[in-house]
Amino acid sequence: MSTGRFAVPEPYNELVRSYAPGSVERTSLQERLTRMSKETVDAQMRIGGKTISSSETFTVTAPHDHSLELAEVHALEAEHVEQAIDDCLATAADWAGLAWEERAGVFLRAADLLSGPWRDTLNAATILGQSKSVHQAEIDAACELIDFWRFNVAFYAEILADQPNSSPGVWNRLDYRPLEGFVLAMSPFNFTAIGGNLPTAPALMGNVVVWKPSEKAALSAHYTMELLRAAGLPDGVINLVHGDGAVASDVAMARPEFAGLHFTGSEAVLRGLWSKSGEQIERYRTFPRIVGESGGKDFVLAHPSASVDALVVGLGRGAFEYQGQKCSAASRAYIPRSLWPQVRDGIADLASDLTVGDVADLTTFCGGVIDGQAWQRHTDALAAARDDADIEVVVGGGSDKTDGWFVDPTVLVTPDPRSDTMVRELFGPILTCYVYDDDNWETTLELVDTTSRYALTGGLFATDRAAVDQAADALRNAAGNFYVNDKPTGAVVGQQPFGGARGSGTNDKAGSALNLLRWTSARSIKETAAPAVDWRYPHQG
Ligand code: NAD
Repeated sequence: MSTGRFAVPEPYNELVRSYAPGSVERTSLQERLTRMSKETVDAQMRIGGKTISSSETFTVTAPHDHSLELAEVHALEAEHVEQAIDDCLATAADWAGLAWEERAGVFLRAADLLSGPWRDTLNAATILGQSKSVHQAEIDAACELIDFWRFNVAFYAEILADQPNSSPGVWNRLDYRPLEGFVLAMSPFNFTAIGGNLPTAPALMGNVVVWKPSEKAALSAHYTMELLRAAGLPDGVINLVHGDGAVASDVAMARPEFAGLHFTGSEAVLRGLWSKSGEQIERYRTFPRIVGESGGKDFVLAHPSASVDALVVGLGRGAFEYQGQKCSAASRAYIPRSLWPQVRDGIADLASDLTVGDVADLTTFCGGVIDGQAWQRHTDALAAARDDADIEVVVGGGSDKTDGWFVDPTVLVTPDPRSDTMVRELFGPILTCYVYDDDNWETTLELVDTTSRYALTGGLFATDRAAVDQAADALRNAAGNFYVNDKPTGAVVGQQPFGGARGSGTNDKAGSALNLLRWTSARSIKETAAPAVDWRYPHQG
């Protein structure tokens, strides 16, 4: 045992590596990619430190290469989830009772392992399994996850230091307890870092967690779990189960010890999970904390004073990086008529220059979309756009599934600002533009605010300060992350806490203390040094 008011290391954002031709990191990653491409991982569940197999398995293939089988994943049955919960609960008292700095030490070590020897593995798994370009994998699987682990430790230390005042003769304290029960973490396919953060943020705060990652990100989840074990995470603190989210949540939410849901994914699933827990509220020992980040239909709004070059890059990067499969991706744009001819040419050139293909070739910009279902959704939307006489395909519009799930980076222009692709989250490389008359700036602000059920991110391009001020005010509730003269993607932990309200979720801001506060249930302790020994008050004479 050690005693002291320990200061945690000052967190800093992990430096993004370039992977430029000839760089050491490029050679090292390429070697790891080659090795990983030659093996099919037997991805078992991990419960109480043991690997758990199942009679049911599913295969993970690379979205950009149907022939590349990366993992055979063992799929959960109800009994596995029960086992995972029981095992977590058996670990809960020991984990909660561990000195906070010992818990913090596990995640600081995980951050440094990922910064060093595990970087190539998690990047390669994300490139191959989720079809990210090398840059997209690096900023997600390496940098963002490292940042979550380092910054969360610092936020935790700040929370612990937040203590109440004490009056003479009284010592008041706040005891930051974990929730009583277990947390269910369910993560989406599109960010390895979110997969890593959803179970570890509650675990850092002393909770035990059942983690059910997306089936489509099972490979990176498998390696994340192995990395956490290498960092010294005790058995049973986070139990990993793979497979059907409906079964996992049915089992977990039927348990009286269900204490919280840490979810990121689509809006419909979040609403379904919320209802499922609400319907069973009488069962629970404690009111469950529901933290859910969901969809987006993120906008870029250009004012007539915008710089066209900056706008075009913001649109291109915002809409097409990771094939538009970011919750924050730009998917609807509002361009003033005066700028449209230049913007149109610029974005058409940019989109035509993007390479789409095998991301294991590190020069590639876009890989495949995540699976056949996503590919079909995009293909159908593009066919409908082509069939609509009012919609013009400025660039792209095609898709091809011969070798992988490829969709062309596409720009559409519509005269109807409430047409399907201006409103529906497609989650693919499809940007729809609406061209407004410059005089209609104010009504366009209202349009941007009221078109979507979501309110996740938005980017404003303008150099006129009055316009910036006006838009920031009019769009105050239209985005939880609002960017001025920048693309609406790429939030950095510790710099732009992330999340949105309305249909986009509970806005509990991943990458900040606001999120961690949801995973603690504080107890007030008042200790009186010299308690009263006479029950009478002075006014009684
Ligand atoms: P998804 O909703 O399909 O899956 C998310 C998780 O829920 C997975 O673990 C999945 O297995 C599980 N799940 C799926 N169907 C379920 C059901 N019927 N019952 C219970 N669980 C179920 O989402 P996805 O396709 O993996 O991710 C894309 C979505 O996530 C998009 O809508 C995107 O906007 C959103 N997203 C939001 C954020 C954010 O921070 N707001 C970040 C990333 C992704």
